Formats: sequence, C-alpha cells, structure tokens
Amino acid sequence: MKAKLATDGFAPLLKTPLPGPKSRAILERDRKVISPAYTRGYPLVIDRGEGSYVWDPDGNKFLDFTAGVAVNALGHAHPEIVKAIAEQAGRFVHMAGTDFYYEVMAAFAEKLCATVPGDSPKQCFLTNSGTEAIEAAIKLARYVTRRPRMIAFFGCFHGRSMGSLSLTASKAVQRRHFSPLLGDVSHAPYGDLEFIEKVLFKRTTPPEDVAAIFVEPVQGEGGYNVAPPGFLEGLRRICDEHGILLVVDEIQTGLGRTGKWWAVEHSGVTPDILCCAKPVGGGLPLGAMISRAGLQKWPSGAHANTFGGNPLACAAGLKTIELIEGGLLANAERMGRLLATKLQALAIRFDGIAPPHGLGLLQAVDVLKKPGVFDTERRNRIVDAAFRKGLLLLGCGEGAIRFLPALNVEKGHIDAAADVLGAVLGTP
Ligand code: PLP
Repeated sequence: MKAKLATDGFAPLLKTPLPGPKSRAILERDRKVISPAYTRGYPLVIDRGEGSYVWDPDGNKFLDFTAGVAVNALGHAHPEIVKAIAEQAGRFVHMAGTDFYYEVMAAFAEKLCATVPGDSPKQCFLTNSGTEAIEAAIKLARYVTRRPRMIAFFGCFHGRSMGSLSLTASKAVQRRHFSPLLGDVSHAPYGDLEFIEKVLFKRTTPPEDVAAIFVEPVQGEGGYNVAPPGFLEGLRRICDEHGILLVVDEIQTGLGRTGKWWAVEHSGVTPDILCCAKPVGGGLPLGAMISRAGLQKWPSGAHANTFGGNPLACAAGLKTIELIEGGLLANAERMGRLLATKLQALAIRFDGIAPPHGLGLLQAVDVLKKPGVFDTERRNRIVDAAFRKGLLLLGCGEGAIRFLPALNVEKGHIDAAADVLGAVLGTP
C-alpha cells in the first residue's frame, strides 16, 4: 500500500494526458480567432477555480502558483468577493465614474488611499489596467512639473501602451517595430544612482528637464530583481534635490504581496505617485494612480476614461482590501519565508538552480548555465514540466521562474508545490 503523504489533499490531481480532449478542442477554436501576440507558454485551459486550485474542462486539478499573474490575491472564486460582485451587479453594473458619482467608488478609493504610505491625504485616479495607471502618472507628472523628460531603468516593465512602453525596457520583443515612442525617456541600470547623477544628468538628461523617475521596488517582468539597499532612498534624495517626482510602480508588487501593503514600505521611502492595478480589483479590471491630494492640480477634463472605477471592480476591490486586512499581510510574510526556505533547499539539490530572490510571496529562482548566464530554454522546459505535473508557474526575465501564490496560501500548498518542483527541477 502506498504511504499517505502530508501533501496528499493539497497535491494537484491529473486524470488525462495534457492537454485533455476537451481542452484541445478549445485550444483549436482559440487559435483561429485569438491574436497570436499573447504570451501563453503552455496549453492550460481553465474551466473553474477555487482558492489555490483551478480545474480544466477535462477534470484535471492544478495548483496555481501564478495567481492569474499576481491578480487573484484571495485565490479563485472567494465566496465573499463573488457575493460583493453579485450584489453590486444586482444594483447597477455601470454608470461612468468620469461623469457621475456612486458611493462604492468613493468607498473603495478611501480604503485604497488609506493603505498608501505618507502622512498627507491622498487622491486617486482610477483606471482599468496597470498601463493606464502609468499613463496617468506620465500625464500628471508632465502637467504639474511642466517638464518633458522621464527616467526609467533597464529591466523595467511598466506596460505596453505607447507612453508606458516608452518606459518599459525589459525585452526587445515588447518594443520591436513600435517606434517612434515618447522620445524623452532615459534609462539607467537598476540600482545605479551614480549613473543618473554622473552620466545622465551631466550628458543627456538635465535634471531640471526631468518630470519623474519611474521605478519598480522589485522589478517584476524583468526577473524579480529586488531594489538593492539604499537605492529607493537614493532616488528619493535625487528627486528632492531636483524637484523631480518619484513614481513607484507597484502594479505587480502591491497590495500585500510582499508582506506589506506596498513593497516600497520595506525601504521607508514615501513616493510622490504610486501606481497599482492587478490585485486591487479583486480579479476585475481596476487600477489606480495615487498621489498626495495637493499634487493633483489638474482641472476637470484634463484626464478621464469611461470604465475606470467600474462599480463591480470597486466592490470587489473593497472586499479584497477588507479581507487582506484580516491577517493576510502576516500570512504573506510567514508563507513567503516558508516558500523561500523550500526554494533554498531545492537550489542546493539541483545544479543550475540559484537561491531564491524576492520579498514575501513574490519569489523567483534563476535557472543558470553558469554563474551570471541564464538558461532560458531550460527554464521554459522546467515551467512546462511543472504544468505537466499539475503545478502552474510562470517565467520572468531571461531565466527566472516566479512563484506568486495567493496571499491566503497555506503550508500544505507550499509543501505540495515543493514536491512537484523536486520532481521537475532536474529537467535538463
Ligand atoms: N507595471 C508592472 C510592474 C507590471 O507587472 C505590469 C503588468 O505585468 C504593468 C505595469 C502593466 O499592467 P497591465 O498589464 O495591467 O497593463
């Protein structure tokens, strides 16, 4: 008789070869009508989800360590979020917050703004996505400073619309054939304050022309690079010295994922503008560009959108923040430590797997050919092998595998994920 494992109830459960017949039929229909531009790495078709699990139409049960790319902070189909959406849908689905008022928009914004660091009162501009939050920050920064230029960092990802793409410097494929972009963006190596002061300011980018510096506290798509000690503090100093706005992109790192509401809090720095999206709408499209109230000196009509602050998304987002308040920051911190410890042990066991890097439940390991040289193809094969054993993962950067389970993840889920990793990290 097979011994019962501690992870048995938590482990993925596969019933068919992947993809199964029902999944294959959907993949075939999808291929005909959906743009090939999307970045799907393996053929997972989702039928339904619950907590940290998703099922495909063939009845296969997968353990989800992607959280829908850092969106599903409470996992799938959390009953209280489902209820909040249903209740709001029964009252009204849309009325355009750009032209009218409704309480759930104010209630969500009050709750969200209260989580953001800094003593002064905050105001937010609500969007439907991360890239729109960045666009709003670009426009506000230019509007209030009357300066044209921006600084961002190599490896950064701020979105794919033309303004945010002008900042993004993560992968060439994201920019190829899309020029001309905004011309007034300069890039510096992530973590290199001297480059900004001694090279950019002296040679190409006079500080008095710079409206804003955009930075991720942990570079997400760029490979989960955590800001080196002193970097964000140094940016704050540079911005203060030159009247530049510091814009922190917390679209992937925010709302509790790192064990604090916002990853920038690990440094103690107060940004001028904080951009967020992904988890803030509880799975529905919602983002925000948040600043101290005094900064938003732009008149009615200077910026607006039809769907930003959609009532369903605000209701789901409000419930999400309330649920996170109920102890999930501490869980993210505790489970993040457990996850990092497990990944550390696996890195010792397997050649070419580097120790984990990240904060809280935002962790990654690099797959390396040799020190400093990423093995992109092997990384992709490992992520695919994990899928074939029922663990959903995503890559990031050139050779990293990222781990971003829901914030309410339990020890059993992490043990079960580590079991699968133990079986696939040896993939050549
Ligand atoms: N900024 C960061 C740090 C992100 O990770 C992303 C998306 O992955 C974006 C911006 C863009 O967000 P969206 O895809 O919602 O436009």
